[in-house]
Amino acid sequence: MNKNDLTYEELYRQGCEELETAGIGEAKTDARLLLEWCCGTDRNTLLAHGERAVTEAECGRYAACIDRRRRRVPLQHITGEQEFMGLTFEVNKDVLIPRQDTEVLVEEVMRYLHDGMRILDMCTGSGCILLSLLRYSNDCTGVGADLSGEALAIAARNAERILGAGAMEKVAFVQGDLFEKISGQDRFDMIVSNPPYIKTDVIDTLMPEVSRHEPRLALDGHEDGLFFYRRIIAQAEKFLAGGGMLFFEIGYDQGAAVRLLMEEAGYTDVEVVRDYAGFDRVVCGGSHV
Ligand code: GLN
Repeated sequence: MNKNDLTYEELYRQGCEELETAGIGEAKTDARLLLEWCCGTDRNTLLAHGERAVTEAECGRYAACIDRRRRRVPLQHITGEQEFMGLTFEVNKDVLIPRQDTEVLVEEVMRYLHDGMRILDMCTGSGCILLSLLRYSNDCTGVGADLSGEALAIAARNAERILGAGAMEKVAFVQGDLFEKISGQDRFDMIVSNPPYIKTDVIDTLMPEVSRHEPRLALDGHEDGLFFYRRIIAQAEKFLAGGGMLFFEIGYDQGAAVRLLMEEAGYTDVEVVRDYAGFDRVVCGGSHV
């Protein structure tokens, strides 16, 4: 990339071209967002101040970012953040990047969430589900569990970022294999989970941003994709308070299977909820105790 005497808009055009040539789907958007990231600018700059000069340092940073994006590093791994439920979460290679689809899960839980409830987020990753629920409710508290200590380090940083200084009074993070380290005494009104649910064989067919850069641990639902639903459904009841509810995010083709697993385990009023694209996205049901 030529670093001499470029304007902001010219630099943006170079970025677009490089990403387009590399076959990046959202080339223009990504080129703009990376430029804003490198220059500390916002969308308005391209619209209103395209003739602005760029410094050599900005050019250098941008070239490095475009190069990483060309090699399919997810945009969010370059910027280190992703917006979810109107909040900005820190992300890195150790956590699944929060998806817009998952906002449907949060919104569904919110329909039933009351002040002061206790929430368990199983496979919390970045913490985006639990922390959004705590941020948008009153006096609720929660536990986020994950097998990955690296993920929990990000979740803890997000807790401070989203909930502020008193975060640790409202939320705790526990490392373990599903419920392994959750105390048997601890009962929750809501258990929510976006577990790994991609069939092992399918992972390598996903976009390289996902298959090569997102944590396999957060994606791999074993042979039929349902491994974690079975285990969570079997154990969750012991950790639900009377009248408690279990909520899952699911893959678009898993609605019937997960509904059946929950019904067979005795959960009541099991429902499958669709996302805005019309695909099955959430399954929820009540504890029968
Ligand atoms: N929805 C994610 C994807 O499509 C997968 C999330 C998960 O396995 N929990 O990549």
